Amino acid sequence: MHPEPEFDIASFAVAVTNELSPEVIGSRWRSVQAILRLATITGSQMQLGPALNLLCDLAAVITNFDSACVYFWNEPQEKMEVRLRRGHIDVTPQVPWGGNLLHFWVTQHALPLLIHSGKHAKADAELAAAGARCALVLPLFVQGRVLGSLQLFCASPDCFTEHDAQLLWTLVLAAENLLTREQANEGLLRFAFTDYLTGLRTRGYFEQQLDLEVKRSERKGEAFSLLMVDIDHFKILNDTYGHHIGDQVLRQVTSLLVKDMREVDTVARYGGEEFVIILPETSEEEATAVAQRLRKTVQNSEFNIDSLKDQEKLTISIGIAVYGQDANCRQKLIEYSDAALYAAKARGRNQVFTYSQLLREEHKEVG
Ligand code: GH3
Ligand code: MG
Ligand code: MG
Repeated sequence: MHPEPEFDIASFAVAVTNELSPEVIGSRWRSVQAILRLATITGSQMQLGPALNLLCDLAAVITNFDSACVYFWNEPQEKMEVRLRRGHIDVTPQVPWGGNLLHFWVTQHALPLLIHSGKHAKADAELAAAGARCALVLPLFVQGRVLGSLQLFCASPDCFTEHDAQLLWTLVLAAENLLTREQANEGLLRFAFTDYLTGLRTRGYFEQQLDLEVKRSERKGEAFSLLMVDIDHFKILNDTYGHHIGDQVLRQVTSLLVKDMREVDTVARYGGEEFVIILPETSEEEATAVAQRLRKTVQNSEFNIDSLKDQEKLTISIGIAVYGQDANCRQKLIEYSDAALYAAKARGRNQVFTYSQLLREEHKEVG
């Protein structure tokens, strides 16, 4: 194996200006009109998804491409993700902080990158994923920061020109206001879905996420688990120390619940001292292991009662139901996990109980 020849990614960058030259304006009037069209609607209210779609439509007026994708920061979920894909593009390795390599490069240079095959092995791999010989990648700005990238691919080797890069650069600059506002709206959404006391997701967020998970589970034919968690005898702690201390302890319990969760798991406050946890692609056995770990963590913890320099012990009870195994609709899933929680309480608290266990016991009683 030969070491990869030194190639500076910066040489993919196109030197652009903030003004269009008379030559470009004269020869590319249709493209200029596309930019003006965007400029006239940046004041209108639009969701981020449609805004990115519009951007892609206008890019198609400016240049031809075979496939395209847009990476954009998902503010509510705090992650970089593909928001739009046109044509077929295989998924390539993602860099640790999100997005593919092209996205990473354009973030670093904050300039359009015009990429041709045969210059750099890793760039070639990105082109191959789209069946392309060249790509034009543009940064998408939100308040001066690159928070996304528009990636256009073409199978013919010389599809994109420097004039295309210049025109698309002007387009994305014109889109900045629109993207900034819609991104801020998404941020507001995150704020609205955060519980003020615990910092967890709210019940409303949970309901939405549960719908998504049900759809995903139906599509993939995979089970997922729902945990219903309730603090045992929390009223006693409140009655002993007052609500203010109760709130502090509630936050301490919360931080234990989220500590070892996967990024895909949703931990939400369901009500007072009750929590729900969605574990995607998780069987009853796996969910039980997670629940037992949480139960033991809480049991083994000391909770600070700050001003009193006191420490209290607490326990939690957990009910589990599995979508695709116990329940086939979201309402039943909630009902069954609640029934399992109730059974855990009835059996002395500080326990994990599953809905299928409950069914088996009821069966025995009947039989
Ligand atoms: P168990 O669940 O084990 O049956 O007993 P419990 O005492 O926890 O159950 P119950 O549902 O009867 O009472 C819940 C108590 O939790 C009532 C209230 O004092 C307390 N609580 C609920 N929400 C909050 C809150 O936001 N802050 C504080 N400090 N306490 C809360
Ligand atoms: Mg309770
Ligand atoms: Mg309760």
